[in-house]
Amino acid sequence: MDKDFKNKTPEELKAIVAKYGGKEYLSKYIFTYLHQHNLNDINLMTTLSKDMRKRIVDDGYYITQLKIEAKLVDPDGTVKYLFQTADGNKIESVLLDENGRKTICVSTQVGCRLGCKFCATGALGFQRNLDAGEIIDQVSAICADSGCKVNNLVYMGMGEPLENYDNTMRAVRINATEIGKQIGFRRQTISTVGIPEAIRKLADEDVFPRLAVSLHSADDGVRKEIVPAAHKYSLKELLSAMKYYNETTGRRITIEYCMIDGVNDSFDLARKLIQYIRPLKVGVNLIEYNPHPGADYQPARREQIKEFKDMLMQAGFETIIRFRRGQAVKAACGQLGADRLSENKTKDEDE
Ligand code: SF4
Repeated sequence: MDKDFKNKTPEELKAIVAKYGGKEYLSKYIFTYLHQHNLNDINLMTTLSKDMRKRIVDDGYYITQLKIEAKLVDPDGTVKYLFQTADGNKIESVLLDENGRKTICVSTQVGCRLGCKFCATGALGFQRNLDAGEIIDQVSAICADSGCKVNNLVYMGMGEPLENYDNTMRAVRINATEIGKQIGFRRQTISTVGIPEAIRKLADEDVFPRLAVSLHSADDGVRKEIVPAAHKYSLKELLSAMKYYNETTGRRITIEYCMIDGVNDSFDLARKLIQYIRPLKVGVNLIEYNPHPGADYQPARREQIKEFKDMLMQAGFETIIRFRRGQAVKAACGQLGADRLSENKTKDEDE
């Protein structure tokens, strides 16, 4: 995919344009055209001469453009987009509106190999990594379609961003660029299931997007049950990587905790969580579990979630509850890909 203009940094575009005898201002024009105006046709870049455009296209350069296959609007205002990639794969992204603040949640992989038990994407399995142009174009396409300006960008859709590290970080850098989308690093969040070596690598970068770690339990047994990746990465290793991140970057981490009835919502497990995160600089998001056809779990009771939150707050941890949003269109956390899961299930039953 190295001929995709959309995944190029301004410096890389400058080098490409120079090959065709173009000055730096032309590469800046292309970058702005792509990332601020969300336009996608090299032939319409009329600031470049006709001859230059022809030579660029003849040399195989192109611009990634995802196709919007479907758009579903939840009564709460959440919008789910189903995109098709050039090779026919399907990915989903979500536009959330919280009191006028727009957050876009993008996918980083087609499917996911980590198979978290509460997640519809995990049940779909893994197809391939998205390249940076495909990650970025989810934002461009949603902005072009909705006309909105993005306040926050979260890499929390389908896939594990840190298993697609280079493409995700390239997308983060390009999305932050001043002559592009200007979504600063502090307004971009990478959400990971917790891959210790990748968290350490992230801590050693020269730029720091926000980091969210999907912990879901501080008990090894319970975590292994719902997050199979925990068989490979122990809570001890994860803790050490998070400490390193805190110390190296000075930044706080968000702990994501999906509240599942009778699985990880007991007060004993709340105490275990407090003990586990005590040495860290973290805030906690308690997420109401969103049911999907691939799992038998139920959401924790709201009173339980509130008391769980109170325990964390009393222990000194800033804690937010995220109640379900986008449920009607299966756009909520853990539900991306749920439509296809239902389709697959129906097919299996018909056969
Ligand atoms: S929760 Fe994230 S890491 Fe786990 S299976 Fe779903 S997409 Fe993959």
